[in-house]
Amino acid sequence: MAKVLIIEDEPDIRQVLEFNLTDKGHRTQVAGTAAEGLRLARERKPDLVLLDLMLPDVSGTEVCKALRADKELRDVKIIMITAKGEEIDRVVGFELGADDYVVKPFSVRELMLRVDAILRRAGEKPQTGDFFEFGRLRVDREAHRVWVDGVELELTALEFKLLVTLHDRKNRVQTRAALLNDVWGIEADITTRTVDTHVKRLREKLGAACDYIETVRGVGYRFAESPDAEGTA
Ligand code: CA
Repeated sequence: MAKVLIIEDEPDIRQVLEFNLTDKGHRTQVAGTAAEGLRLARERKPDLVLLDLMLPDVSGTEVCKALRADKELRDVKIIMITAKGEEIDRVVGFELGADDYVVKPFSVRELMLRVDAILRRAGEKPQTGDFFEFGRLRVDREAHRVWVDGVELELTALEFKLLVTLHDRKNRVQTRAALLNDVWGIEADITTRTVDTHVKRLREKLGAACDYIETVRGVGYRFAESPDAEGTA
């Protein structure tokens, strides 16, 4: 059970969301404007915000920024609801720090699955430490060693960093620009195409574990949710 804040100006959608979330045992609050939404967020500190992009007063992207800028709310989970399918909106949504998004018209069932997944992840402790395992993959961060099905791979330092970066942000899409920044460093004189080239090479080396790195078309890459998940490319 979680506290969910719905910021959405369309009464029909608001009602459907409220009904389904309450039905699952969550406590919901609704706001029809950005101002009201921000006020409720600050007052009630929700676990999750379902945030419409097109609001009557201020855009959802501004609300997202305001939430992330607030010391007490920066870790709140945010699912953006957008009527526009343009890839640019998705990228912008993720760069602002949304955890996920759905495009209207969305299936309620799909949205509820995403809500479950996000809340479940929020309750999990992040995997830190020197060592992690994921399906066929085993990684020793300290020693920079990687195994697939027990066979050690020869990765370059960059490929290793790329793999670990994607893993540590599991389920969060990483834009090419973000990867360039974090893996290569901003001063690097390379293009986003470089990211694609390195991901391709890394996947080839991963062999049977290549599906663990998923392509999110038009946006970037992400690490699979579970070792046996279907790719969403
Ligand atoms: Ca709207």
